[in-house]
Order: sequence, then structure tokens, then C-alpha cells
Amino acid sequence: MISGPSGAGKTSICKALLERLPNSRWSVSVTTRPRRGDEVDGQAYHYIDDAEFERLRQSDQLLENAEYLGRKYGTPREPVERAIAEGATIILEIDVQGGAQVAQRLPESIRVFVLPPTMDTLKARLAGRKTESESLQQKRLAEADGEIAFAIRGGVYPYIITNDILEDSVQKVIEILESETVKS
Ligand code: 5GP
Repeated sequence: MISGPSGAGKTSICKALLERLPNSRWSVSVTTRPRRGDEVDGQAYHYIDDAEFERLRQSDQLLENAEYLGRKYGTPREPVERAIAEGATIILEIDVQGGAQVAQRLPESIRVFVLPPTMDTLKARLAGRKTESESLQQKRLAEADGEIAFAIRGGVYPYIITNDILEDSVQKVIEILESETVKS
């Protein structure tokens, strides 16, 4: 499970992990936020409305769920349980509220928090991807401090890495996964 502020580079790390790790798959979240840029429905997310989200949540079909900047996000339970049963590695890219729920429900999960090298880098990365309006970029940036403080406070993320050079970060996560696999 990978968490971190918007713009820290989580998605790039996850994409590289999926390519590099044998028998790995991506957990496709549901969200009520609108589709962004070149995202494809069913690949990045399943885009659903509030009523459908509530239906899934209330019928216990979500492993975890959270609200981020007024939009809802959740992890469908069944694909995660199936992956675990099949011995596959399933990668969740979720926020810290969801991370806390997963830590409780799946304590054996491997949880990594990704930090940007500096807050200026985070700002530049958010601005550079041009997928959100200026005001939404500001809101995402404002969320970052709380998310980082939460991760550093401890309890949910045994691993905190700084994503400066993408390839180094991918390698760090692979090493974490390998060391955890040896332990279990
Ligand atoms: P974005 O809108 O940039 O795709 O995602 C916003 C935030 O929601 C990010 O921190 C992302 O990791 C998180 N997120 C994406 N999917 C889920 C999910 O299924 N559950 C939770 N709790 N957070 C999610």
C-alpha cells in the first residue's frame, strides 16, 4: 500500500512496481471525482456517483473508504481478497485515512508513505502536471502538511521514503517488499 501527498509521485512509483513485480496487480478504486485528463474508466478508477458509492459502502463492499477534498474514494474489497487468496501482490494507492483503515483490517499489509524531497518540489510537480485548476492545486497542497504530519506521527506507515529520483524510490520499495517477504 502506497500513500503520500498529491504530487509526491505515488502513481509513477506504482506503475513502475506493476511492471517490475511478477504476479502484481493494481487495485482499481472507486471514486466520485470527475475523470482527469487521459485517465481511462476502469483503469485508473471506476468513476461512480454518490448514490452508487453509498450503496457499495453500506453493503460492505469497500475494504476502506475516505473523503478527500469533498470527493469520495474507496477500495473494492473483493479484488483485494481474491489477490491475497491467489498469492498475488496487490498494490493500493490510497490516502492516509484509508491507510489507517487498512492497517487495522489487514495488519499484514506493507505500508509505505512517499514524501516529496521538498515542499517546493511538491508545488512544482502539482503545477507541472496541469491536470487540476490552480485552486484545486492549492487545496491539494494545503492537505499535504496534515498528511505528512499524520504519517510521521507513526502507527500506520512503518516505511517512509523520499521520492527524489523515481528509479531509486522504486528500488527502495522493492527492497522493502523483499525484506518483508523474507520475514513472513
Ligand atoms: P487523486 O484524485 O489524485 O487520484 O487522489 C486523491 C487522493 O485520494 C490521493 O491521496 C489518492 O492516493 C487517494 N485515493 C485514491 N484512491 C483511493 C481509495 O480507494 N481510497 C482512499 N482512501 N484514498 C484513495
